[in-house]
Amino acid sequence: MPKVIPSPAARIAPMTRRDALKIPLAASAAGPAPAASPARIATEIVRLKLLHPWTTVMSSSDFRDTLHVRYSKDGITGHGEGAPIVRYKEDAQGALQAVNSVRDLLTASDPWKFSKLMAEVFRRVEGQWAGKAAIDIALLDWICQKLGVPVYRYFGLDPKDAPVTTFSIGIDTADVTKQKVREAAAYPVLKVKVGLDVDETTIASIRAATDKPLRVDANEGWTDKEVAVRKINWLATKGVEFVEQPMPAHMLEEMRWVHQRSHLPLIADEAVLHPGDIPKLIGAFDGVNVKLDKCGGILEAYREIQIAKSLGMKTMLGCMISSSVSVTAAAHLSPLVDYADLDGNLLIANDPFSGVTVKDGKLILPDRPGLGLKPV
Ligand code: MG
Repeated sequence: MPKVIPSPAARIAPMTRRDALKIPLAASAAGPAPAASPARIATEIVRLKLLHPWTTVMSSSDFRDTLHVRYSKDGITGHGEGAPIVRYKEDAQGALQAVNSVRDLLTASDPWKFSKLMAEVFRRVEGQWAGKAAIDIALLDWICQKLGVPVYRYFGLDPKDAPVTTFSIGIDTADVTKQKVREAAAYPVLKVKVGLDVDETTIASIRAATDKPLRVDANEGWTDKEVAVRKINWLATKGVEFVEQPMPAHMLEEMRWVHQRSHLPLIADEAVLHPGDIPKLIGAFDGVNVKLDKCGGILEAYREIQIAKSLGMKTMLGCMISSSVSVTAAAHLSPLVDYADLDGNLLIANDPFSGVTVKDGKLILPDRPGLGLKPV
């Protein structure tokens, strides 16, 4: 049985053993004791169907497979999800194998030593950041459910500080683009993918439908620094707030040249995967786009955000196309950041959960323990 230390108030009156066991573990002055029952890990590859086929400079498709992880112990189940990123040669099978490779470690370890446990997972598993993210999220969901607090409270954040999220408009024909802009009526800021030959047409068809502020993502699409500057400064005249990843990640020297001539803030995405990538971006970018699937979970994303802030950079939380599990996990850190692009769950037709919601564009964090997910 778990060792339960009565709180000071509880010690005043004589207690039966049964009374003592009713005291929540979280109320213990000595902190929660390790629970005795073994943990169970369940994994599942979930095929998420897209509302619209999704086109970027990298790919086009009408579904995404993400890895879901469930961590169960003491009657509580924590949910995690990782969306493998093709750019980094990840897929759902690889993420699944990564989780299986540390299954024994996860079931045998004390989840309250979360930070140490995740460090060991990172040491044992090479790459496979989506698989690591799924583990990290499931463990933190379990811990915060057990403590009876939302994840944002575990990190000491105020949900009122959560920013608005952009809503992404994929590249498409002019008519479909107009339809997508109409569907995004509730969102005050839109995100647009550029970086193809049709950039002028894309922006023109969006501007024909709305004058809302735009945030633009080039996804490494411009490989010539002069073209990049010309495109960025043209976008500056079109009501664009910033440009994400104008040039390929490895072209940092060219980006410094572009940065000196840019009329808009520049945000790194593909150029920043992990906290250690941030210092070399100074002078090339103004901010970083942090994603749980790139860095390996909530804890690593928190570190990345804090390092960027300490270096005076803007911070943004982004996501891949994924269900409410991963998007809600990221949203719990969103009170920390300047910008949010957390719409991955809004682009799918078969979300298995509800969690974070959006009101007038602003992220509303669930005020329930853990991630605060509810099955749909
Ligand atoms: Mg991006």
